[in-house]
Amino acid sequence: MQLEEDTLVDVHCHIDLFEKPEKVAAEANSFQVNTIAVTNAPSVYFFTESMGHRLDYIHAAVGIHPELVSSRKGELREMWRILERTRFVGEVGLDYRVEDVSERRDQMDAFESILDQCATYKNKILTVHSRRAARDAVSAIGPDYPGKVILHWYSGGVRDLSRAIEYGCYFSVNLTMVRSKKGQDLVTRMPRERVLTETDGPFLKVGGEIATPAHVVQVTRDLARVWELSFEEARKQVSRNFRKLLDT
Ligand code: MN
Repeated sequence: MQLEEDTLVDVHCHIDLFEKPEKVAAEANSFQVNTIAVTNAPSVYFFTESMGHRLDYIHAAVGIHPELVSSRKGELREMWRILERTRFVGEVGLDYRVEDVSERRDQMDAFESILDQCATYKNKILTVHSRRAARDAVSAIGPDYPGKVILHWYSGGVRDLSRAIEYGCYFSVNLTMVRSKKGQDLVTRMPRERVLTETDGPFLKVGGEIATPAHVVQVTRDLARVWELSFEEARKQVSRNFRKLLDT
């Protein structure tokens, strides 16, 4: 891994879901954006893993998206095998946009198993989804989790945010967050040394364009505005945070 003092970071991007993933990955690499390339199911991990092997700045993460858990839980066994060879885990978590009780139970069962499996390694880095489920996600993580947890696109309440801060979580913020009042309010409550940048591409757009890792420049710029820092200062802060995240 290449870790410049002012490296740009995109800790949550679905490179494999772009129309031209190879092109997006190569561009992120040439722009020197350290990118955690999340995946939504163990069976599709291998494609991203092979890009990660070729490109220094692309770090493949194995995951199972909460909305896919009920239909793909049979793949968890595959995930345990993959965990032996990647430090990065995601996208995982809970999504309570799903209202079905048994699906929610499946999500929680899978998330708890994933947290348990990862805990045995002690150095895993997880990128966690918690839409409408911040309280349960933070409770499942708990205090003193043996690993690093990044709450991706945190959109819960202030009390659960405080708990997540107490528990040592990191937070990855994207353009929607730094450009909305609610998001900015949450960002100002997050300790600066725990904030990372993400694009969540290809699910977010920047000025009509689908966000790629290169767009973390815009995220960093807007984050700098929220922090009342210069772009370079914000970039260095996020870079420092990313290096700390990687420390065991
Ligand atoms: Mn995502």
